[in-house]
Amino acid sequence: MAFKPANNIQDLQYFGEFGGVNPSISDSSTYTFLSAKTMFDTFEGNADGCYLYSRHSSPSNLYLGQALAAMEGTETATVTASGMGAITAVLLQLCGNSDHVVSSRTIYGGTYAFLKNFTPRMGISTSFIDITKLDRVEAAITEHTKVIFCESVSNPLLEVADIAALAKLAKKYKIQLVVDNTFSPLSIAPHKLGADVVIHSLTKFINGASDTVGGVVCGSQELIDQLRNVNDGAAMLLGSTMDSLRSASVLKNLRTLHVRMQQHSFNAFYLAQQFEALGLKTVYPGLESHPSHNLFKSMMHRDYGFGGMLTIDVGSLEKANELMELMQEENLGYLAVSLGFYKTLFSAPGSSTSSEIPEDEQEEMGLSDGLIRFSIGLDADIERTFFKMKECMEHLEILEPEAV
Ligand code: PLP
Repeated sequence: MAFKPANNIQDLQYFGEFGGVNPSISDSSTYTFLSAKTMFDTFEGNADGCYLYSRHSSPSNLYLGQALAAMEGTETATVTASGMGAITAVLLQLCGNSDHVVSSRTIYGGTYAFLKNFTPRMGISTSFIDITKLDRVEAAITEHTKVIFCESVSNPLLEVADIAALAKLAKKYKIQLVVDNTFSPLSIAPHKLGADVVIHSLTKFINGASDTVGGVVCGSQELIDQLRNVNDGAAMLLGSTMDSLRSASVLKNLRTLHVRMQQHSFNAFYLAQQFEALGLKTVYPGLESHPSHNLFKSMMHRDYGFGGMLTIDVGSLEKANELMELMQEENLGYLAVSLGFYKTLFSAPGSSTSSEIPEDEQEEMGLSDGLIRFSIGLDADIERTFFKMKECMEHLEILEPEAV
Protein backbone atom coordinates (compact mmCIF):
# COMPACT_ATOMS: atom_id res chain seq x y z
CA MET A 1 0.00 0.00 0.00
CA ALA A 2 1.18 3.54 -0.73
CA PHE A 3 2.94 5.36 2.09
CA LYS A 4 0.53 7.95 3.51
CA PRO A 5 2.53 10.22 5.80
CA ALA A 6 -0.35 12.46 6.93
CA ASN A 7 -2.54 9.43 7.75
CA ASN A 8 0.28 8.04 9.82
CA ILE A 9 0.41 11.22 11.90
CA GLN A 10 -3.38 11.39 12.19
CA ASP A 11 -3.71 7.77 13.32
CA LEU A 12 -1.71 8.43 16.47
CA GLN A 13 -4.00 9.30 19.37
CA TYR A 14 -2.71 10.82 22.58
CA PHE A 15 -5.07 11.84 25.34
CA GLY A 16 -4.34 14.12 28.27
CA GLU A 17 -4.21 12.97 31.86
CA PHE A 18 -7.87 13.96 32.45
CA GLY A 19 -9.19 12.93 29.05
CA GLY A 20 -7.94 16.08 27.38
CA VAL A 21 -7.96 16.01 23.58
CA ASN A 22 -4.32 17.06 23.66
CA PRO A 23 -1.73 15.13 25.64
CA SER A 24 -0.73 16.58 28.99
CA ILE A 25 2.50 18.57 28.88
CA SER A 26 5.27 17.08 30.97
CA ASP A 27 6.16 19.94 33.27
CA SER A 28 9.12 18.33 35.00
CA SER A 29 12.84 18.30 34.44
CA THR A 30 13.32 15.25 36.64
CA TYR A 31 11.38 12.10 37.60
CA THR A 32 11.02 10.02 40.74
CA PHE A 33 11.70 6.29 40.94
CA LEU A 34 9.98 3.83 43.24
CA SER A 35 13.20 1.92 43.67
CA ALA A 36 16.89 2.74 43.47
CA LYS A 37 17.38 -0.34 41.29
CA THR A 38 15.08 1.08 38.57
CA MET A 39 16.99 4.35 38.67
CA PHE A 40 20.24 2.44 38.12
CA ASP A 41 18.69 0.40 35.28
CA THR A 42 17.41 3.57 33.63
CA PHE A 43 20.90 5.09 33.68
CA GLU A 44 22.17 1.93 32.03
CA GLY A 45 19.47 2.29 29.36
CA ASN A 46 17.69 -0.88 30.52
CA ALA A 47 14.38 0.42 31.83
CA ASP A 48 11.96 1.03 28.97
CA GLY A 49 9.19 3.50 29.70
CA CYS A 50 11.00 5.17 32.59
CA TYR A 51 12.01 8.80 32.46
CA LEU A 52 15.19 10.00 34.07
CA TYR A 53 15.84 13.63 33.29
CA SER A 54 14.29 15.80 30.60
CA ARG A 55 17.53 16.51 28.72
CA HIS A 56 17.51 12.77 28.01
CA SER A 57 13.82 12.52 27.08
CA SER A 58 10.40 13.62 28.27
CA PRO A 59 6.87 12.38 27.55
CA SER A 60 6.05 15.51 25.49
CA ASN A 61 9.19 15.12 23.40
CA LEU A 62 8.45 11.45 22.87
CA TYR A 63 4.93 12.21 21.58
CA LEU A 64 6.28 14.68 19.04
CA GLY A 65 9.13 12.36 18.09
CA GLN A 66 6.71 9.48 17.52
CA ALA A 67 4.49 11.60 15.29
CA LEU A 68 7.46 12.75 13.20
CA ALA A 69 8.83 9.20 12.93
CA ALA A 70 5.36 8.16 11.72
CA MET A 71 5.48 10.96 9.14
CA GLU A 72 8.90 9.91 7.84
CA GLY A 73 8.32 6.16 8.21
CA THR A 74 11.40 5.63 10.41
CA GLU A 75 11.63 3.38 13.46
CA THR A 76 11.80 6.32 15.82
CA ALA A 77 12.94 9.94 16.21
CA THR A 78 14.30 12.41 18.72
CA VAL A 79 13.42 16.09 18.80
CA THR A 80 16.01 18.82 19.36
CA ALA A 81 16.08 22.48 20.30
CA SER A 82 16.72 23.58 16.71
CA GLY A 83 17.39 22.22 13.24
CA MET A 84 21.10 22.90 13.76
CA GLY A 85 20.85 20.99 17.06
CA ALA A 86 19.70 17.97 15.04
CA ILE A 87 22.27 18.34 12.24
CA THR A 88 25.28 18.92 14.49
CA ALA A 89 24.35 16.07 16.85
CA VAL A 90 23.93 13.55 14.02
CA LEU A 91 27.15 14.51 12.23
CA LEU A 92 29.18 14.44 15.44
CA GLN A 93 27.63 11.10 16.41
CA LEU A 94 28.43 9.50 13.06
CA CYS A 95 31.86 11.07 12.48
CA GLY A 96 35.01 11.38 14.57
CA ASN A 97 38.65 12.29 14.16
CA SER A 98 39.95 11.65 10.59
CA ASP A 99 36.51 10.83 9.21
CA HIS A 100 35.17 12.42 6.05
CA VAL A 101 31.79 13.73 4.85
CA VAL A 102 30.63 14.11 1.27
CA SER A 103 28.16 16.98 1.32
CA SER A 104 26.04 18.71 -1.25
CA ARG A 105 27.59 22.11 -1.94
CA THR A 106 24.24 23.85 -1.90
CA ILE A 107 22.92 23.51 1.60
CA TYR A 108 21.71 25.85 4.32
CA GLY A 109 24.49 28.34 5.17
CA GLY A 110 24.67 27.27 8.83
CA THR A 111 25.20 23.61 7.92
CA TYR A 112 27.80 24.67 5.37
CA ALA A 113 29.63 26.76 7.98
CA PHE A 114 29.53 23.89 10.49
CA LEU A 115 31.10 21.46 8.03
CA LYS A 116 33.52 23.94 6.49
CA ASN A 117 34.72 25.86 9.56
CA PHE A 118 33.81 23.97 12.73
CA THR A 119 34.16 20.22 12.22
CA PRO A 120 37.76 20.45 10.87
CA ARG A 121 38.67 21.34 14.48
CA MET A 122 37.58 17.81 15.37
CA GLY A 123 39.52 16.27 12.52
CA ILE A 124 36.43 15.83 10.32
CA SER A 125 36.89 16.91 6.71
CA THR A 126 34.21 17.56 4.09
CA SER A 127 34.13 17.55 0.30
CA PHE A 128 31.42 19.82 -1.10
CA ILE A 129 30.09 18.36 -4.32
CA ASP A 130 27.37 19.10 -6.86
CA ILE A 131 24.90 16.55 -5.50
CA THR A 132 23.08 16.28 -8.82
CA LYS A 133 26.22 14.72 -10.38
CA LEU A 134 26.28 11.19 -9.03
CA ASP A 135 29.63 10.34 -10.62
CA ARG A 136 31.23 13.25 -8.75
CA VAL A 137 29.61 12.15 -5.50
CA GLU A 138 30.98 8.65 -5.95
CA ALA A 139 34.43 9.93 -6.92
CA ALA A 140 34.56 11.98 -3.70
CA ILE A 141 33.98 8.96 -1.44
CA THR A 142 37.15 7.75 0.28
CA GLU A 143 37.91 4.97 2.75
CA HIS A 144 37.37 7.59 5.51
CA THR A 145 33.93 8.70 4.34
CA LYS A 146 31.20 8.04 6.89
CA VAL A 147 28.32 10.18 5.63
CA ILE A 148 26.74 11.56 2.48
CA PHE A 149 24.82 14.69 3.49
CA CYS A 150 22.29 16.56 1.38
CA GLU A 151 18.98 18.39 1.43
CA SER A 152 16.09 16.83 -0.54
CA VAL A 153 15.46 20.26 -2.05
CA SER A 154 18.40 22.52 -1.44
CA ASN A 155 18.51 25.88 0.27
CA PRO A 156 18.48 28.26 -1.55
CA LEU A 157 18.98 26.99 -5.12
CA LEU A 158 16.21 24.37 -5.00
CA GLU A 159 18.41 21.66 -6.45
CA VAL A 160 16.81 18.26 -6.05
CA ALA A 161 18.75 15.25 -4.74
CA ASP A 162 18.18 11.84 -6.31
CA ILE A 163 17.71 10.19 -2.94
CA ALA A 164 17.23 6.62 -4.20
CA ALA A 165 20.42 6.79 -6.27
CA LEU A 166 22.38 8.37 -3.41
CA ALA A 167 21.06 5.67 -1.05
CA LYS A 168 22.33 3.02 -3.44
CA LEU A 169 25.77 4.63 -3.41
CA ALA A 170 25.72 4.87 0.39
CA LYS A 171 24.84 1.16 0.67
CA LYS A 172 27.57 0.22 -1.80
CA TYR A 173 30.22 1.94 0.34
CA LYS A 174 28.53 1.04 3.68
CA ILE A 175 28.12 4.67 4.68
CA GLN A 176 25.11 6.63 5.97
CA LEU A 177 22.90 8.85 3.83
CA VAL A 178 21.67 11.77 5.93
CA VAL A 179 18.97 13.93 4.32
CA ASP A 180 17.70 17.29 5.53
CA ASN A 181 14.05 17.31 4.39
CA THR A 182 13.15 20.76 5.76
CA PHE A 183 11.95 22.15 2.40
CA SER A 184 9.69 19.23 1.47
CA PRO A 185 7.82 17.71 4.44
CA LEU A 186 5.10 15.25 3.37
CA SER A 187 5.96 15.80 -0.33
CA ILE A 188 9.14 13.73 -0.12
CA ALA A 189 9.78 10.82 2.25
CA PRO A 190 13.57 10.31 2.10
CA HIS A 191 13.65 7.20 4.30
CA LYS A 192 11.16 5.48 2.02
CA LEU A 193 13.61 6.20 -0.82
CA GLY A 194 16.49 4.64 1.12
CA ALA A 195 17.95 7.42 3.29
CA ASP A 196 19.23 6.23 6.67
CA VAL A 197 18.59 9.43 8.61
CA VAL A 198 16.07 12.22 7.96
CA ILE A 199 16.42 15.61 9.62
CA HIS A 200 14.08 18.60 9.76
CA SER A 201 14.30 22.09 11.05
CA LEU A 202 10.87 22.14 12.73
CA THR A 203 11.22 25.92 12.79
CA LYS A 204 9.94 26.00 9.20
CA PHE A 205 6.89 24.36 7.57
CA ILE A 206 6.31 21.73 10.25
CA ASN A 207 5.65 24.22 13.02
CA GLY A 208 4.54 26.85 10.52
CA ALA A 209 3.97 29.65 13.01
CA SER A 210 7.43 31.28 13.07
CA ASP A 211 7.18 31.34 16.87
CA THR A 212 9.83 28.79 17.78
CA VAL A 213 12.98 26.99 16.70
CA GLY A 214 13.10 23.21 16.78
CA GLY A 215 14.53 20.18 15.04
CA VAL A 216 14.19 16.43 14.71
CA VAL A 217 16.32 13.43 13.81
CA CYS A 218 14.29 10.53 12.37
CA GLY A 219 16.17 7.24 12.12
CA SER A 220 16.75 3.77 13.49
CA GLN A 221 16.23 2.91 17.15
CA GLU A 222 19.95 2.14 17.28
CA LEU A 223 20.98 5.65 16.12
CA ILE A 224 18.49 7.42 18.37
CA ASP A 225 19.65 5.34 21.36
CA GLN A 226 23.23 6.30 20.53
CA LEU A 227 22.31 9.99 20.33
CA ARG A 228 20.63 9.80 23.74
CA ASN A 229 23.28 7.66 25.42
CA VAL A 230 24.24 9.18 28.78
CA ASN A 231 27.93 8.33 28.27
CA ASP A 232 28.64 9.32 24.69
CA GLY A 233 25.42 10.50 23.04
CA ALA A 234 25.76 13.78 21.10
CA ALA A 235 22.14 14.84 21.71
CA MET A 236 22.40 14.07 25.44
CA LEU A 237 25.86 15.55 26.00
CA LEU A 238 25.72 18.60 23.74
CA GLY A 239 22.38 19.44 25.32
CA SER A 240 20.37 20.41 22.25
CA THR A 241 17.15 19.19 23.88
CA MET A 242 13.77 20.65 23.04
CA ASP A 243 11.72 22.06 25.89
CA SER A 244 8.51 20.14 26.68
CA LEU A 245 6.28 23.20 26.40
CA ARG A 246 7.61 23.79 22.92
CA SER A 247 7.26 20.22 21.75
CA ALA A 248 3.62 20.22 22.89
CA SER A 249 3.05 23.36 20.85
CA VAL A 250 4.83 22.00 17.72
CA LEU A 251 2.76 18.78 17.94
CA LYS A 252 -0.47 20.79 17.81
CA ASN A 253 0.76 22.65 14.71
CA LEU A 254 1.89 19.42 13.07
CA ARG A 255 -1.80 18.37 13.02
CA THR A 256 -2.53 20.89 10.25
CA LEU A 257 0.65 20.41 8.22
CA HIS A 258 -1.08 18.49 5.39
CA VAL A 259 -3.61 21.27 4.79
CA ARG A 260 -0.96 23.98 4.96
CA MET A 261 1.43 22.18 2.59
CA GLN A 262 -1.33 21.84 0.01
CA GLN A 263 -1.98 25.58 0.13
CA HIS A 264 1.73 26.55 0.16
CA SER A 265 2.27 24.33 -2.90
CA PHE A 266 -0.85 25.55 -4.71
CA ASN A 267 0.13 29.20 -4.24
CA ALA A 268 3.81 28.69 -5.09
CA PHE A 269 2.96 26.73 -8.25
CA TYR A 270 0.58 29.46 -9.39
CA LEU A 271 3.10 32.25 -8.81
CA ALA A 272 5.99 30.30 -10.38
CA GLN A 273 3.96 29.73 -13.55
CA GLN A 274 2.94 33.39 -13.74
CA PHE A 275 6.47 34.70 -13.05
CA GLU A 276 7.94 32.41 -15.69
CA ALA A 277 5.27 33.47 -18.21
CA LEU A 278 6.32 37.09 -17.62
CA GLY A 279 9.86 36.18 -18.64
CA LEU A 280 11.36 36.26 -15.12
CA LYS A 281 14.14 33.76 -14.41
CA THR A 282 12.15 31.51 -12.08
CA VAL A 283 13.22 28.33 -10.31
CA TYR A 284 10.52 26.03 -8.91
CA PRO A 285 10.60 22.21 -8.98
CA GLY A 286 7.02 22.17 -10.29
CA LEU A 287 8.02 23.95 -13.51
CA GLU A 288 8.96 21.78 -16.45
CA SER A 289 11.94 24.07 -16.97
CA HIS A 290 13.43 22.92 -13.63
CA PRO A 291 16.31 20.53 -14.47
CA SER A 292 15.06 18.01 -11.89
CA HIS A 293 11.33 18.41 -12.47
CA ASN A 294 10.86 14.78 -13.51
CA LEU A 295 13.03 13.51 -10.66
CA PHE A 296 10.96 15.46 -8.10
CA LYS A 297 7.79 14.12 -9.73
CA SER A 298 9.09 10.56 -9.45
CA MET A 299 9.80 10.97 -5.71
CA MET A 300 6.90 13.11 -4.57
CA HIS A 301 3.67 12.39 -2.79
CA ARG A 302 1.23 13.98 -5.25
CA ASP A 303 -1.19 15.29 -2.62
CA TYR A 304 1.34 17.80 -1.28
CA GLY A 305 2.72 19.26 -4.50
CA PHE A 306 6.11 20.74 -5.25
CA GLY A 307 6.40 22.77 -2.07
CA GLY A 308 6.22 26.40 -1.08
CA MET A 309 9.70 27.60 -2.08
CA LEU A 310 10.63 29.40 -5.28
CA THR A 311 13.33 31.79 -6.46
CA ILE A 312 13.45 34.54 -9.05
CA ASP A 313 16.49 36.42 -10.28
CA VAL A 314 15.97 40.15 -10.80
CA GLY A 315 19.51 40.87 -12.00
CA SER A 316 21.17 42.70 -9.12
CA LEU A 317 21.18 42.88 -5.33
CA GLU A 318 20.07 46.51 -5.56
CA LYS A 319 16.96 45.59 -7.56
CA ALA A 320 16.29 42.62 -5.30
CA ASN A 321 16.43 44.85 -2.21
CA GLU A 322 14.18 47.51 -3.79
CA LEU A 323 11.63 44.90 -4.80
CA MET A 324 11.58 43.23 -1.39
CA GLU A 325 11.17 46.57 0.39
CA LEU A 326 8.32 47.58 -1.92
CA MET A 327 6.55 44.23 -1.60
CA GLN A 328 6.75 44.56 2.18
CA GLU A 329 5.34 48.09 2.01
CA GLU A 330 2.46 46.70 -0.07
CA ASN A 331 1.89 44.03 2.61
CA LEU A 332 2.63 41.17 0.20
CA GLY A 333 5.02 39.51 2.60
CA TYR A 334 7.88 40.19 4.98
CA LEU A 335 11.54 40.84 4.29
CA ALA A 336 12.68 38.07 6.60
CA VAL A 337 14.74 34.90 6.57
CA SER A 338 13.17 31.53 7.43
CA LEU A 339 10.25 29.82 5.74
CA GLY A 340 6.97 28.03 6.15
CA PHE A 341 5.04 30.94 7.68
CA TYR A 342 1.40 31.84 6.79
CA LYS A 343 2.76 35.06 5.33
CA THR A 344 5.11 35.08 2.34
CA LEU A 345 8.73 35.63 3.42
CA PHE A 346 11.47 36.81 1.08
CA SER A 347 15.20 37.37 1.36
CA ALA A 348 18.27 37.65 -0.85
CA PRO A 349 20.17 34.50 0.19
CA GLY A 350 23.61 35.72 -0.99
CA SER A 351 23.58 38.45 1.65
CA SER A 352 21.58 36.59 4.33
CA THR A 353 21.02 32.85 4.87
CA SER A 354 23.93 31.83 2.62
CA SER A 355 26.29 34.67 3.54
CA GLU A 356 28.51 32.11 5.33
CA ILE A 357 29.44 30.83 1.87
CA PRO A 358 32.36 32.83 0.37
CA GLU A 359 31.44 34.97 -2.64
CA ASP A 360 33.56 33.05 -5.16
CA GLU A 361 31.93 29.78 -4.06
CA GLN A 362 28.47 31.38 -4.29
CA GLU A 363 29.26 32.35 -7.86
CA GLU A 364 30.50 28.87 -8.73
CA MET A 365 27.30 27.25 -7.47
CA GLY A 366 25.11 29.70 -9.35
CA LEU A 367 24.00 31.75 -6.35
CA SER A 368 23.68 35.14 -8.01
CA ASP A 369 23.32 38.57 -6.37
CA GLY A 370 19.88 39.25 -7.76
CA LEU A 371 18.37 36.01 -6.46
CA ILE A 372 15.31 36.38 -4.23
CA ARG A 373 14.14 33.34 -2.27
CA PHE A 374 10.42 33.25 -1.58
CA SER A 375 8.64 31.11 0.96
CA ILE A 376 5.12 31.47 -0.39
CA GLY A 377 2.45 31.97 2.24
CA LEU A 378 -1.10 30.75 2.66
CA ASP A 379 -2.70 33.73 0.83
CA ALA A 380 -6.41 33.13 0.30
CA ASP A 381 -6.37 34.94 -3.06
CA ILE A 382 -3.09 34.24 -4.80
CA GLU A 383 -4.24 35.87 -8.05
CA ARG A 384 -4.60 39.20 -6.25
CA THR A 385 -1.15 38.70 -4.69
CA PHE A 386 0.31 38.05 -8.13
CA PHE A 387 -1.18 41.20 -9.67
CA LYS A 388 0.13 43.32 -6.81
CA MET A 389 3.60 41.74 -7.08
CA LYS A 390 3.56 42.37 -10.83
CA GLU A 391 2.71 46.02 -10.20
CA CYS A 392 5.70 46.32 -7.86
CA MET A 393 7.97 44.81 -10.53
CA GLU A 394 6.61 47.18 -13.17
CA HIS A 395 7.06 50.17 -10.87
CA LEU A 396 10.73 49.24 -10.37
CA GLU A 397 11.19 48.54 -14.09
CA ILE A 398 12.05 44.92 -13.45
CA LEU A 399 9.17 44.27 -15.84
CA GLU A 400 8.05 46.46 -18.69
CA PRO A 401 4.69 48.04 -17.81
CA GLU A 402 1.97 46.27 -19.76
CA ALA A 403 0.75 48.20 -22.83
CA VAL A 404 -2.86 49.28 -22.39
N1 PLP B 1 18.12 23.08 7.36
C1 PLP B 1 17.61 23.95 6.49
C2 PLP B 1 17.30 23.48 5.10
C3 PLP B 1 17.36 25.27 6.86
O1 PLP B 1 16.85 26.14 5.99
C4 PLP B 1 17.68 25.67 8.20
C5 PLP B 1 17.45 27.06 8.67
O2 PLP B 1 17.23 27.96 7.91
C6 PLP B 1 18.22 24.72 9.07
C7 PLP B 1 18.41 23.44 8.63
C8 PLP B 1 18.58 25.09 10.49
O3 PLP B 1 17.45 25.08 11.29
P1 PLP B 1 17.28 25.91 12.64
O4 PLP B 1 17.31 27.36 12.27
O5 PLP B 1 15.98 25.43 13.18
O6 PLP B 1 18.44 25.56 13.51
